Amino acid sequence: MLINELLKGFIKEAQTYYLPSNNTLWVSMLIQCPYKFRLLREIPSLKALIQLQSNVLIGNLIHKGIEYYIAKFDIGIGERYVRIEKNVDGNHYTITGRVDVVDNNYCYEIKTINTVINDYRIPLRPHIEQLLFYLYMLNKEFNEGEKDYVFIKYSLGYLVYIDLGKYTIKEIEVRFNDYAYNKVDEIIDDRIRNFVKMEKIPLYDGECNYCLFKSWCKYYKR
Ligand code: SF4
Repeated sequence: MLINELLKGFIKEAQTYYLPSNNTLWVSMLIQCPYKFRLLREIPSLKALIQLQSNVLIGNLIHKGIEYYIAKFDIGIGERYVRIEKNVDGNHYTITGRVDVVDNNYCYEIKTINTVINDYRIPLRPHIEQLLFYLYMLNKEFNEGEKDYVFIKYSLGYLVYIDLGKYTIKEIEVRFNDYAYNKVDEIIDDRIRNFVKMEKIPLYDGECNYCLFKSWCKYYKR
């Protein structure tokens, strides 16, 4: 009963998360295979499949618990939405994201993993990219209106891996500077293009191995 109610809530949340309005893209759409989102549009029941994964449910609960303690102990700001505007190839896009924790000069992205992901594989490339995209967006928001100079206010990010299999927590530091700002700016443009044109599917080698949608996908690569 409790689990059902929680699942209903998370599935409802996922409706808005995975299917944003026209030309609004979530950061998560730019760091993984774009075809997943085409499948989500074409087969709406797949949204529930994601939320019904026990590791996703546990991950959601851990996030909510961390948010509770961030508020209770007054540590930074939990779950902050960031939003930037982009013009790519003559089209306008809004990029939006949800950062887990933001403090004065840094941010945290919390990931729950299990033993399927061995220690030597973390940090995972899409997780590093997600954190770098958030640092870029936080800095871009901060510099809004300034044209000639970008002040890097958010210069540090942390990936926090909570391993559900080993009961361990690992914090990985990611630094951010002017060079990263300009580089990420270009990468986000490329990812928007790829999301629209679907030229690179999957986005990373080996991504299909962990894809929940491989049984439905005509591009699945072993
Ligand atoms: S199976 Fe591979 S190509 Fe298909 S949606 Fe998943 S990641 Fe993309």
